[in-house]
Order: sequence, then structure tokens, then C-alpha cells
Amino acid sequence: MDILERIEYLKTEINKSNYEYYVNENPYLTDFEYDNLFSELKELEEKYPMFKTSDSPTQRVGSVSEKFFSHTHKYRLYSLDNTHNEEELIKWYERVCKDYNKELELVCELKIDGLAIALTYENGLFKIGVTRGDGVTGENITTNLKTIKAIPLKLFESKNLEVRGEIYMPKTSFEKLNQEAINTGGKVFANPRNAASGSLRQLDSTITAKRDLSMFTYTGIFEDESDQNIKTHYEGMMKLKNLGFKVNPHIRLVKNIQGAIDFCKEWETKRFELDYATDGVVIKVNDLNIQKDLGFTARAPKWATAFKFPPEVVSTKLLDIETNTGKTGIVTPVAILEPVELAGSTVSRASLHNFDEIKRLDIRIGDNVLIMKAAEIIPKVIKYVESEDHEKLEKYMPPQTCPSCGWKLTSKKDLVGLFCTNPNCESLMCAKTEFWVSKNAMDIDNIGPNIIQQLYEKNMISSPIDLYRLLPQDFMMLDLVKEKSASNMYVAIQESKTRPLNRLITALGITHVGKETAEILANHFGSLDKLASANMDELMNIDSIGSIIAVSVVKFFSNSKNIKMIEELKELGINPTSIVAPKSNKLEGKTFVLTGTLETLSRDEASDIIKQNGGKTSSSVSKKTSYVLAGANPGSKIDKAQNLGVIILTEKEFLEMIN
Ligand code: NAD
Repeated sequence: MDILERIEYLKTEINKSNYEYYVNENPYLTDFEYDNLFSELKELEEKYPMFKTSDSPTQRVGSVSEKFFSHTHKYRLYSLDNTHNEEELIKWYERVCKDYNKELELVCELKIDGLAIALTYENGLFKIGVTRGDGVTGENITTNLKTIKAIPLKLFESKNLEVRGEIYMPKTSFEKLNQEAINTGGKVFANPRNAASGSLRQLDSTITAKRDLSMFTYTGIFEDESDQNIKTHYEGMMKLKNLGFKVNPHIRLVKNIQGAIDFCKEWETKRFELDYATDGVVIKVNDLNIQKDLGFTARAPKWATAFKFPPEVVSTKLLDIETNTGKTGIVTPVAILEPVELAGSTVSRASLHNFDEIKRLDIRIGDNVLIMKAAEIIPKVIKYVESEDHEKLEKYMPPQTCPSCGWKLTSKKDLVGLFCTNPNCESLMCAKTEFWVSKNAMDIDNIGPNIIQQLYEKNMISSPIDLYRLLPQDFMMLDLVKEKSASNMYVAIQESKTRPLNRLITALGITHVGKETAEILANHFGSLDKLASANMDELMNIDSIGSIIAVSVVKFFSNSKNIKMIEELKELGINPTSIVAPKSNKLEGKTFVLTGTLETLSRDEASDIIKQNGGKTSSSVSKKTSYVLAGANPGSKIDKAQNLGVIILTEKEFLEMIN
């Protein structure tokens, strides 16, 4: 291939992957592979400038889709040039300092792996929010952005300004969303960035509202005369924080490039402790006049650079592909690997998402595969490592029958994956029962997966509801269960009969109805009978219930088996009407915001305690917040609480308050 052909090939490949990444949110290359193609093109264009054209992807930013109304940006948005090591960072710094004969101060910020947006504020009010798009034109997604609590609708001061920030989805929420999608055959996102982008670019804003999205602000363009005294980027960021924006708490002002190198080294490992994905560090010249003086290339500012962290990818052998049937009947493949070290832990299993994905990647048992930690929590298989042996291996064929009960698997309209539709499938019923007893559902202690499996194997139950028909002596027929624990199991099951309605709705496992939606439905309808007889219009009239959830609820309650189950529940004395039954009114009128990792309680547990004592929880700190309950690594909510004079409690102080 000659140079020109190679350049054309790279341009086509990069344009194609840009489209899949930015418009379809479905990248087929890893970021590392993409960055390598991009760097190669840039190098070739520098070496052979006669082949550089103005439509080259190196001269452009992102891509725009036609899904939303387009909006022309008032101030152009740029991308960032990358650096990958100390040497490149020093070279960049020497270039920017060259004309100033002094060391320039720098600001280091974590590079949040999300979606860039520009927000316009007029007289302190949020007016328009637009995606970066191609930097000149973006998509107007104001309605969706208004559902994100980290975006203030009204600032603490009446100001005119444009703010840029990165919308992201916390890693734990990303994992949860993907797990739900895997269970229900929905769309699985490749990484938190695509999940954030996909959630934000929804035509139905009720879907966006249900996704856990947040934003870190990283630039402000201040338009008022009174703000022209802001002379540095750092001062600007502190001003944004005081106006009510969420600024990443790890921002650091450093004297010179050594300070920036230290910051990069520190965060290369510490980033795994964060609940959001970062793919590097952004280093910016602090002085705004010097920034202006240095200016931009066609694609990126000259006064900033992105130091990209090396990818956490390793190769290992794929020993087998295990299949499991989940609570909706979906059969999911899991990669069984030769154990290997990855980002600080030993990995022997990894996600393969679904059978379409295995086919698309042409992964075969026996291949050497690359695995990475998607959002650095659950590892996933990215691709096979090319070798002559690959072709000799047998192509992987998805199972035709359920790995648990042997029923023929089927596919479902609009859903990805293969499903077991045998209502008596043991794996499916075990998974449903495990979900029924789980913390967020009926919260039944003492009944773990092993007990559930034995109950099915010994034909003692055929659905979660049968648990309520068991007597203490029944449990004693299970392996290693003695009188005391049999009695504990019986009591725990019986006690769960009085769980509030929202928990029972969660336990039913209606597709798209998780813990929060169940609370909304329980609050609105007050009984299972009323919910069961609700029609589409009634459901869609409820705030934050869109057509997808409404269809799923109506479908669930029109199934004759489910109608029968509700009758059985009532016969067993399970027919709650309250939502969370308050234990006391100690916290009545008090609003709590939770932040950081608590010592003994999970966030859900703390928030249940607050509700059980008559209090409320909120996700953002405001003047109305009574207390911020803070654990380790609390994030910027603490700063905001301090600024507003809100009382900050430790877990110990909180528990003392309740007891
Ligand atoms: P980028 O993500 O490398 O850097 C620019 C962006 O960083 C800004 O637009 C902003 O959104 C973001 N950012 C996060 N924190 C920031 C901070 N503190 N200050 C300033 N900006 C901050 O560049 P890009 O143009 O958005 O995308 C290119 C990158 O996207 C590639 O390097 C690659 O990683 C990925 N990509 C991947 C594929 C693929 O197929 N895998 C395709 C296209 C792009």
C-alpha cells in the first residue's frame, strides 16, 4: 500500500468509527485502537503535507447526527490533542512556554470520559444545552439536560455565561444499567461514555430522567463586565463552583510541568477508586491572556493537552463459554478464562454480553483474547488476538436449548438474545426467587442461592410465592440445616409478608420496573389491585413514567399467570397498601443528601433508615438540605454543603441521631 492509499484507508476507517462512536453509540474499535489510527494519520499528514486535506478527520471534531434540532454554537467547541508519556508532556510544555521566558502555571483536571456539552445561562437561568457535535453545530438537548440534577436551573447569582462540562454516568450505575439490559435483552453499552451519550440523546426525556447522569463543569465563558476581573482558569473554576456548578474536587493548580507529571502519576492508579471513568488528565495553561495568545489549531487548543492513561488490557486464553439462564429467561454467555492479573485483581471470568456480540467478534473457544475492565469494574472480552490458530478453531455456535431445562430457546421481537420460555425452568425460577428475597425486593435474610437451589431440586417450591407455604420442618430436609436455622428461615419469610407495597412491586420483577419506579407506582396507586387495573393513559400521566414502562406494566398484569399469582399472594395474606412503613417521625421534615462510602451502611440502607424515620433524601445539596451524611471520598457535595452552611454528619453521628 503506498502512502496516499494508506492515508485514504485511515481517513475512511476513522470517519466510519467516528460515526459509530458519536452517532450510533456503538464503537467497534477500542479507544486505544482508534487513537493509534488517529496518531498514524496525523504523523503521515505532518510528514507529507501535500496529502493533507481540509476534510481530514484530523482537522475536525466529532460528528453531528440529525436526531435532534441542530443548534449553532455561539463559541466554537474544540477537542484536545493527546500526550502519552512524560517526554511528550515536557515537549508540549516547552512549546507553550517558549515565547514567555518563564515557567507557566498549569491547572490539572481529571479527564472525565463522558459527553461534552455547552450550557447557556441568561440572567442566572439555564436557557439552552447543546452537545458538542462537530464543534460548530451541536444537538439541542435542553429538555433532557434539565432532568440532570447536577445542572443548576438557576444560579446563585444572576449571571450571563456559557459553561462547558462533561456529562457522565457513574460506573456503578453503568454496570447496573448494563446488567438490566443483559437480563431483559435490551441494548448493552460498550462503556460509561456511550451509556451517558445514549441516555442523554433520547427522544423521550422520561428515559433520560431515569438514568443516573451527572456533570462535571470544566470551563466557563463569563460574559458580564463584572466578571472580567477573572484572569485565570483556576479562578474561573472557583467562580463556577460558587455559582452552583459541580466542579471536580481533584482539580489542582501547579507551578510547572513537574507538578502536572506528579498529578498524572498519582491518578494513573488512584483513578480506580473513583466511581466515574477517567481516561486521562487534562492540563491547561492557567493564565487566560496567555491562553488567548496561544490560540487553537483546527481541532484543539494549543494551551491544553490531554495526557491519556495507558489502557488496562491484557491477553489470556478463552477456556470455555458458560451459559446461564436469568430471571427473565434470557440466556447469557460468560467467558471462562485462564486466570490473569488485570488492574489489580485476578480475573478468570469475563462478560461476553450476548450471542450476537460473540458472532460479531468471531470469538472461538481456544482463542487468545484481549480483556479489559469496562469502566474498570467487570472485565469484558474485547476481541481475539490474531493468530494462525484462530482459523483452525471451531466457530462458536450459540446453544439451541436452555442450559438448565433443555427447552428450545427462542428470540423475542425488539430484544437482543435468546430466551428460555419454559415457565417451570429451574434456573429461571431460582433467579426469580433470588431476586424476590434480595435486599431491594422482599429483603428476606437467611435464604441464599444454595437454599433456593435445593428447594427447587427437591421439588419443595415451584415459584417464589411457594416460599410462604413452607413450614419450619420443611427446611430441615435441606442439607446441613438444623432446627435453629430452619426456624430462622421460616420466621424471615413470614416477616416479609408485611413489607411495603413498593418492595412487593420490585419483587415481581416487571421488566423496566426497578426499585425507584416501584416506589413511584406504589405511591401513586396505593395497592397492587389498583396498579394491576391501570391502563396506558393512567400510567403515562405519572411523572417520569414513559411509554416503555407503561407497556411493560400493562403487559405484565394482563398475563393470566400473573393475575393468578396476585390472587395467590392475597390468599397468603400479602397485600400491602403502604409504601415505606415509618417506624418513627424523628426525621420528619428533614432532607438528607448522601455522599461518599459509609463505613457500615450501604447507601440504600441509609436511605431506607431515613425514610423509615419520616425523613426524605435528595441527590443534590441546596439551601433546603438539612444534613449531608458523608462517608469516605465524599466528592464535591461536601464543598457545596460547607459553602451553604449545611450540617455534615458522619455515619456514627447519624446512627446516634436515630437511636
Ligand atoms: P477527547 O475525548 O480525547 O478529548 C476532548 C474532550 O475531553 C472534550 O471535548 C471534553 O468533552 C472532554 N473532557 C473531559 N474532561 C475534560 C476537562 N477537564 N477539560 C476539558 N475537556 C474535558 O476527544 P474527542 O474529540 O471527544 O474524542 C476523541 C476520543 O474519543 C478518541 O481519542 C477516542 O478515545 C474516542 N473515540 C473512540 C472511537 C472508537 O471507535 N473507539 C471513535 C471516536 C472517538
